[in-house]
Order: sequence, then structure tokens, then C-alpha cells
Amino acid sequence: MEIYTNDDIRPGVIAGQRIAIIGYGSQGRAHAQNLKDSGHDVIVGVREGGKGWKNAKADGLATAEPSEAVKGADIIAILTPDMAQAEVYKTIIEPNAKKGSALLFAHGFSIIYGRVIPRDDMDVILVAPKGPGDLVRREFQRGRGVPSLFAIEKDVTGKARDRAMGYAKGNGGATGGLLETTFREETETDLFGEQAVLCGGAKELVIGGFNTLVEAGYQPEIAYFECLHELKLIVDLFYEGGITKMNEFISETAKWGSVSSGPRVINAETRARMKEILTEIQDGTFAREWIAENEAGKGAYDDLVKADSEQLIESVGASLRERMAWLNAPKAAEAA
Ligand code: NDP
Ligand code: MG
Ligand code: MG
Repeated sequence: MEIYTNDDIRPGVIAGQRIAIIGYGSQGRAHAQNLKDSGHDVIVGVREGGKGWKNAKADGLATAEPSEAVKGADIIAILTPDMAQAEVYKTIIEPNAKKGSALLFAHGFSIIYGRVIPRDDMDVILVAPKGPGDLVRREFQRGRGVPSLFAIEKDVTGKARDRAMGYAKGNGGATGGLLETTFREETETDLFGEQAVLCGGAKELVIGGFNTLVEAGYQPEIAYFECLHELKLIVDLFYEGGITKMNEFISETAKWGSVSSGPRVINAETRARMKEILTEIQDGTFAREWIAENEAGKGAYDDLVKADSEQLIESVGASLRERMAWLNAPKAAEAA
């Protein structure tokens, strides 16, 4: 597979194109600042008085009401929550977007599940950094950049590919490495990854391990370091050199425990559940349920997310992390 870097993308490939960033949250804030620092003409569409509006002003960006920001833009990045995109498209973008402009997504949900049906004259493209917004900004500032995916759903103007690659480059994605995909592949793999492995699976693994130790009478602080804190050190080894590198650094005893007990935790039963989750993403069941949950006012969502934050591992972790000077230092710097 080809991985594009900055040298593969012609300088000035989207020169003179105005970029409107709609929404100034996790991704919007990072994209807007990175693209501006890369020399692009960026306007941020934010609701007056909202948090995004305040932050964008404080960061020194040009701002406008979302419908004003859209007018005259060549590339319109829709970076509001996925569930808000259908309405934002219908009421803000569709009536105001310039003919031949590009609609850019950071995740393909709205297109794949038919929530947004873009106007016939618009390019439809995707630039999806494989990391949270905060990191997209921090890696850019360090001269690195988060690996990103790009995809072309519709190329009406003949400029769609240049627009996606140019935007990704300005956002630091080509420094991190740029991979081509489709809206479908990005959407389904992203949803699967966050549910089964990254946000859902890893979290439940940590909580399950922590609670097993605490219920057996071990001190919660010891369980916290063992099951949560130390995970970062292991993941850093994965990140740097894969499973092979982890195996180089852990003890022989840990390696034997890993190969003999690991497959008892994540086993055929777990993999069957993973397959089930993937099928529900592919056949639209997950999307339908998530949309219905939003339409019902997100009561279950709020309750479950709250329950996640009210567990023993969270209160134990909060007091332990207060002692971690290396964690508290950047927080103070960010607040300043
Ligand atoms: P956020 O939840 O952080 O976005 C919040 C922003 O959207 C705020 O500025 C908010 O305005 C604005 N907003 C919400 N509703 C509306 C509305 N109806 N009209 C106008 N503005 C609105 O979004 P994310 O950055 O998490 O997600 C954006 C996209 O990026 C999604 O498609 C997501 O899947 C994708 N993505 C996200 C990643 C992440 O790390 N979070 C990673 C990769 C992709 P206000 O401030 O006024 O409330
Ligand atoms: Mg993701
Ligand atoms: Mg996602």
C-alpha cells in the first residue's frame, strides 16, 4: 500500500482555496489551527456565545456564524458531532455552499448511513486523522503529525483528490503518513476499532482486571498501577516496535504468562463477539440504534457514560494522579 508523504503532494495544490471549518471541538480546533499555520485561508463557523466560539476567538482565528462561514468557501469541513451533521448540512451548508465546493468529513458515518446527501455539484471527500484532536495539534506543533486517511466519494470538479491531499498535508497528516481508503472502509474500521479494541475493549479489559484484583482483597492502588498505569508503558512498546518489541523487554515469566493466559482472556468467544459487533456496524444496526438513542434524548448514553466515571478505579486513579507531577505540569501550562 502506498503511504504518501509531504513530497508526494505538490506545493500550493490548494493555494487560494478558502477553507471553512464548521465546529470548533476536538477535531475542528486542531484542523483550523494547523491549516492556518500552514498558510491557508481559514474561517471557523461557530455559534455565537458557544464554547467553540469563545475558544476560536481566544486562539486568534477568523470566525463567523456557521452559515456565513460557509458562503464563499471552497472546502467546507463539517467537524461537528456526527449526530449533528444531518441538520448542519441541511440548514447551514446546503443553502449556502458555493457551487463546486467540496464537503469534507473527518469520519464517513453521515455519508455511509445516508444521513447527509450532498448536492450534485459538490465534491465529497474525507480526511480522517487516526488520533484525537488534541494530539493532531500537538504532533503538528512538534513537526510530526498524526497518520491520516483520505478518501474521495465524489469528484465533480476534477479537484477532489488535490483538495483532500492538500487539506491533509496542511493538517500535518502527510508528515505522519497519508493512506488512501474509501468512506466505507474508514467508517466501518473506525467504528469497529473504537468499539472492540481502543475505547471499548481496552477500557473493559482494564476495569475487569482492576475489579478482579480488588474483589480478591488486593489494595486498589496496587491494582490501579498494575492494570491501568502500566498499560501505557506496554502500549508504548507496541507503538515503537510491535508485539516483538514488547517481548524483547518483558521477562521470560511475563512472556510465558502472556502466551499461555492471554488467549484464555481474549478467546474464541471474545472473537465471536467482535465479529458480531462488526456485522452490526456493516448492516447498519449500530447506526440505527445510535441514531434512535439520540432521537430519544440520549438518556441511556448519559447514564452509561456517567456510570463509567463513577467507578472505584476512577476515584482511586484521580487521587493517585494528583501525585504525578509529570501529568500535572502540562495541565497547568494549558490552563495558562
Ligand atoms: P466535537 O463534539 O468536539 O464538536 C463540537 C463542536 O461542534 C463544537 O464547536 C460545537 O459547537 C459544534 N456543534 C455541535 N452541534 C452543532 C450544531 N448543531 N451547529 C453548529 N455547530 C455545532 O466533535 P469531534 O471533533 O469529536 O468530531 C467531529 C468529527 O470528527 C466527527 O465526524 C468525528 O467522528 C470525527 N473524528 C473525531 C475524532 C476525535 O478525536 N474526536 C477523531 C477522528 C474523527 P459549540 O461549541 O457551540 O457547542
Ligand atoms: Mg477513530
Ligand atoms: Mg471514530
